[in-house]
Amino acid sequence: MPPGCEGSLTLTVKVGVSPEPGVLRELTSLMYRYREALNYAIRVVIENRALSLGRAHRLLYSTLKEGYDLPSKIAVDCYREAIAIAKSWLGNPNRGRVPRAKTPRLWLTNKYSYRIRDGYVEILGGYRLRVTGWDRRYDGYPSGDARLLFKDGKLVLEVSKRVPRPPKYSPKGVLAVDVNERYIVVGNSQYECRFETPIERALHYRRLAENLQRKYSLTRYSAWLRRRGIRRRVGYFYSKARRVVEDWAKKVSHKIASLARQSQYAVAREDLTGLVESLRKLPREHRVSLLILSYRRLEFWVDWQAEKSGVPLVVVEPRGTSSTCPRCSSKLVEGGYRRVRCPRCGFEADRDTVAVMNIEVRALSKVGGSLTAPTAPQMTDVAPNRCGEPMSPLRGAHAL
Ligand SMILES: [Zn+2]
Repeated sequence: MPPGCEGSLTLTVKVGVSPEPGVLRELTSLMYRYREALNYAIRVVIENRALSLGRAHRLLYSTLKEGYDLPSKIAVDCYREAIAIAKSWLGNPNRGRVPRAKTPRLWLTNKYSYRIRDGYVEILGGYRLRVTGWDRRYDGYPSGDARLLFKDGKLVLEVSKRVPRPPKYSPKGVLAVDVNERYIVVGNSQYECRFETPIERALHYRRLAENLQRKYSLTRYSAWLRRRGIRRRVGYFYSKARRVVEDWAKKVSHKIASLARQSQYAVAREDLTGLVESLRKLPREHRVSLLILSYRRLEFWVDWQAEKSGVPLVVVEPRGTSSTCPRCSSKLVEGGYRRVRCPRCGFEADRDTVAVMNIEVRALSKVGGSLTAPTAPQMTDVAPNRCGEPMSPLRGAHAL
């Protein structure tokens, strides 16, 4: 996105809701039916390329209404959602299998299928849900369509909001982001801060899942594997590992965006596509797949947080960022544990510090004229963590 781009952003506000007594069973039963109906509708829409409302209606309406027992308006919402999902899947050149909805849900068209009034969400069909809390920062903006999800035994309403895209300031400097297996290093030639990656914590849950699977895949346990309890527990550990990565990526990127904003800096990150591609060629093990996930989610959240808070973003070519001298561009030589040295000018630093400085230099040359590259001081003794303060709790768009 070019800097200073006009327009608006769509973000999701989560609204915690709790159903009136007696409503939960009936509502969730509808949500389970809706999920099955949606998966059916997605297949039909894709197979027939029925991307117009008229065609989808003819192909699906009566089946959704009678076969899946959906109220008429909900049946319409269902094929509308199927069309939206099919369109985004068909538009993705790297698409995998046909998408399937896993979480029981309802898609709700604004004003027709739901409204929020007097502390209650009212849903078509007469369901009333008490609102228990939400992120009030976006109250002033109009609500769009919403999804009601049933996750971990709780109902959550996700309401989409359209908010104006904040204007981007012109940066006074660059905050570079470098990633490696253990740390995210954030900084420039004056400042440096490290965040541990979530790999070890996420691995812990993957291992628990795997141990459980291994234990119950023995022939004498094969009956156990079919037992719902064990499968659910394994699934829980896998999703917990993913959630650890997601929460971490959100928090770290939020921190990065606010650091940049405070100093009116641009955020510069490497283009990690090549790194992710090279990781994909490695044997498929948990560590590798978690690294890929972490890098991708971090990229996504850094870009989104920058967009949302008006921070200019620069993406730089990653080649050689940790092996080139940031002062004189000579090739650096190894100097012991993770340290590198320049044979020409004598510059010496930690490999990650070097990467951050090089990303800064590259970003500055991309941002161009208004900025001059600062003279890089010799950083031979960078403290492993100079962030000083603990990370602030997440207050992103997806928080309650
Ligand atoms: Zn040098």
